Amino acid sequence: MTNRITLRESTPDRWQAALRRAIAEGVQVRQLAGSGLWVATSSHDPGMAYEVTPWSCECTAGQFDDPVCKHRAALLHRLGHLALDDESLDILRATLTRHARRAETRHEARAA
Ligand SMILES: [Zn+2]
Repeated sequence: MTNRITLRESTPDRWQAALRRAIAEGVQVRQLAGSGLWVATSSHDPGMAYEVTPWSCECTAGQFDDPVCKHRAALLHRLGHLALDDESLDILRATLTRHARRAETRHEARAA
């Protein structure tokens, strides 16, 4: 079949990749006190948030019927239904170390 259909499957690998992106990009999940609805911040626009449930999301991926997105991954992680596997942890650690080094370099450049 076409790649498009393959890409939109709900597979453990895709959920891991989505969760890695969510954490690396700082996606945050919050529950609204009044309604109990969950929202997840947009990684492109930190001032914006999408309504999200384990099954649906207002983001572009969600609107195009992709069963997997980083917001749902972040919510499932927050609810304890999706854990990072060891490979994901290694990749994330490497990413965060790279970010920290870059921030350090910027800081040093400013201090100089
Ligand atoms: Zn989403």
